[in-house]
This record gives sequence, structure tokens and C-alpha cells, in this order.
Amino acid sequence: MLLRTPHVLETKNLHQKSLRCKSVLKYDIVVIGGGIIGTAIAKTLKEKMKKPKIALLEKEEALARHQSSHNSQVLHAGIYYRTNSLKAKLCVEGAQLIYDYCSVKKIPVKRYGKLIIASDTLDKYRLKELYKQGLRNKVPGIELLDWESVTKIQPYCRGLQALWSPNSGNVNWEVVTKSFGQDFENEGGDIFFGFEAKCVKESGEASHPVLIKSDKEASFLAKYVVTCLGLYSGALFDPEKDKGYENVSLRVNYYTLNPRLNRFVKTNIYAIPHIDMPFIGIHFSPTVGGEVLLGPSAVPALKLDSYDKSAIDVTYIRSKIFSKNVGFLFLKNLQTCLHQVTEAVSCDFRTAVLNKYLPMISKNDILPGPTALQGQIVTKDGEFVDDFLFDIFEGKGIHKRIINCRFVPSPGATSSLAIANMVHDKIRKVDGFGG
Ligand SMILES: Cc1cc2nc3c(=O)[nH]c(=O)nc-3n(C[C@H](O)[C@H](O)[C@H](O)COP(=O)(O)OP(=O)(O)OC[C@H]3O[C@@H](n4cnc5c(N)ncnc54)[C@H](O)[C@@H]3O)c2cc1C
Repeated sequence: MLLRTPHVLETKNLHQKSLRCKSVLKYDIVVIGGGIIGTAIAKTLKEKMKKPKIALLEKEEALARHQSSHNSQVLHAGIYYRTNSLKAKLCVEGAQLIYDYCSVKKIPVKRYGKLIIASDTLDKYRLKELYKQGLRNKVPGIELLDWESVTKIQPYCRGLQALWSPNSGNVNWEVVTKSFGQDFENEGGDIFFGFEAKCVKESGEASHPVLIKSDKEASFLAKYVVTCLGLYSGALFDPEKDKGYENVSLRVNYYTLNPRLNRFVKTNIYAIPHIDMPFIGIHFSPTVGGEVLLGPSAVPALKLDSYDKSAIDVTYIRSKIFSKNVGFLFLKNLQTCLHQVTEAVSCDFRTAVLNKYLPMISKNDILPGPTALQGQIVTKDGEFVDDFLFDIFEGKGIHKRIINCRFVPSPGATSSLAIANMVHDKIRKVDGFGG
């Protein structure tokens, strides 16, 4: 289950102690953010370049407290993403790296595969387009199946045609993140929990020009900084501010299937993704822990970062209501927004949506599941940004020392090791650090 996985790596008291005093700690590279992206990057840099001293800073008391432990637990194959986009490239590369990594580390991963189901003529057209995109993206093994072939894989499903992706899988990303953290420490990297970076600025010191400060008295000096803040991306450093991007947070509600029906879900079953919002759309995902996740519906969060459904941040809500970006987005996608809200509040509606694919599910079989928060970025034109965004040594002064992982939504977890390789390649080129 998403939130009940045993933690393999917990707080390091030793480092916490050293942070209590007025120390200024010097590192070659500081990575901020202990989700799967920061942890994959820290581990990869330390493994590939033995020389640099590297620290990973995390504001919580453990790794993977946010998006990296609150997600669909799917290992994506790379079908949905525009050809030549970063998502397409890094997801296809990353999926293979994760399968290899989990095999070496003996982390449970299941290659359950995925069926993307077409239920009407328009869906069939879009399925064919997805298939062509998947081929262009070099997704291994995908096939367009007629319904008779689908029933051999998934006998109890409803639909007209499906795209079969045998390379899609399921893994607990929290476990993977913590294993990356363990690798990083084993290589001599330092993890500091409970350190919330509040600002990144010029230090005035030639050898370590970047200063990272928090509310604590301790601070860090670095030659290079990589920020991987998830929901808080852009909070510390945002060279793309001029583009007028707006961060928004969506509350994603999952459900779980009554275990008596789990045997009816033999593979991941996905609806055709929404054309402009591929992260929205019903799916059934069998987790490695043995349960089946249903959903999700996504509605605007009333607070940037609270999993508590009743939590409200009036300042946050006001800033979103008066945002032109969000207004345009809402007007352009009124029907989808209403659909999502109805799905979140109406159990009958939710059941009907699920029944389109699996008819044996009744209202009582849909059990409460975890809640997640998903960061998205909305452009001035009211569109969601649809690719990963990285600011790599952009701008002047210390900005030339910073890699900002500005936007890494799904399939970020699948792509994590490929992203880490990309970051290594960039750092290696500006300062080899012997790697
Ligand atoms: C609902 C949902 C479903 C998804 N499903 C999938 C899926 O099935 N497969 C897939 O591949 N991807 C999926 N994703 C995407 C994937 O979960 C993310 O791409 C990935 O977890 C992003 O990792 P991250 O490290 O960037 O962010 P996070 O995991 O959010 O980590 C950011 C970290 O930075 C820390 N932090 C923030 N600010 C500071 C600060 N100032 N100082 C110190 N620390 C700080 C936070 O505490 C946090 O630990 C899903 C995402 C969501 C939201």
C-alpha cells in the first residue's frame, strides 16, 4: 500500500546534530529535495564522479514524503508523450534503467503490461494515433489488438479495441527512492533531513560561490546546486518567471478496489488519455503490494501542500481565483473540470465511469484510497505545460551554477535515472569532477 511501506532509510541523527550549531558546511555539489528526482541525481553524480563532495538536503524527516510516495506506482513505457519531447525520450530510456536497477537490487517490480482501451469510434481513431506515436517513441513491443486478442490478456474488460504495452509495469516508487538514498550514502554522500532551503544566493566566496540558507543557523556553501523541489518548484529559483507561468496544485483522489474483485484486473487498464491533459483519465492499476488502485479524479487543491481534505489556505485560493492563467484554463476546459469534480463527489458517477471498462464493479466495491497532490504549471494562454522543464545553468552570476528541475510531473518517477544521467552529463561538461 502506498503509505504503509516500511522505510528503508530514516533520519540521520549525526547530521541533524551538526546542523544545530552555527556551522557553514562546504560541498562541491548540493542537491535540494529528497524526492525520487533529487535522490536519483545525488546517487548518480556520486557514483559516476567519485571526487566531488555531495550533500542532499530535504526539509522533511525522511525521503519521498511527497509526490514520490503518492502516485499511481506505474512504470510507464513512453506512449503518451509527444515524439521528440523530453518526456518521450527520458521515459523510454528511464523505464529500461529502472527495470535493470530493480533487478540488481531485488526491488519487487511487476511487468503487468498495460491495455489502453478504445470504447467508441473516436477513441479508436485516437488509439491509432497513440500507437503511431508509441512506435515513433520506440516503445518496445506495443501492438494494436482486436477485441478477441484483448480478452486473452484481460478476459473481463469491455471495449472495442486496445493498445497493448507489454513493457509497462508496476513498482513502489517510495521503495525505489529510498534505495537510491541508500546507494548515495554507501558511496559517501551526506543526507541532511529537516533542512528547508529558504534562499539560494551569491556567497561572495570564490571557491564556493553559492550560499544556501534556511531558518536554521547552519548553512551550506556549494560550487554547484541542483534543485528538485516537486510541488515547490520555482520557489527558490525561477529564471522562467518572465514567461508568466503559474504553479497550481491538484488534489488527486485514488480509490481501491474491493479485494474480492482484484482477480479481474490482470494488467493495468487505462482509458484513452485526455488530449490536452494526459495526466487525467480513469485507470485500474494492480500494485506490487497486491491491491488495485482506481482513479484518479483530479480537482483543484485548496492548499498547495496539504493531504488533509479539509485544509484550506485562503491566500493560496485567492491567488489562483484571480490568476488569468487559471481563469483561461478553466474556461477552455469547462467540461473536463465539471467531469472531474462530479467524479470526485458522486459515487454513482464514479461507478458508471469505471463500469465502462469493468462492468462487475458495484458502488460498494469502490473503497477509499490515498490522496495525492500533483503540481502542474499553467501558461499565460491557459494551457498546462506538457513537457518536463529544466533550467540548466541559465542566466548570469550564480545562475550559471544551478540546475533547476523546474517541472517533473508524470512520468517523472519512471524517468528518474535517465534525468539523473542527463544532469550528470551537464555537470561533467562544466566541471569534470573526475567523472
Ligand atoms: C498523482 C500522481 C501520480 C503519478 N503517477 C506516476 C506514475 O505512476 N509513474 C511515474 O513514473 N510517475 C508518476 N507521477 C510523477 C512522479 O510521482 C513525479 O514525477 C516524481 O515523484 C517527482 O519527484 P520529485 O523528486 O521531483 O518531487 P517530490 O517527490 O515531490 O519531491 C520533492 C522534495 O523536495 C522537498 N523540498 C521541497 N522544497 C524544499 C526546500 N525548500 N528545501 C528542502 N527540501 C525541499 C520536498 O519535501 C520533497 O521531498 C505521478 C505524480 C502524481 C502527483
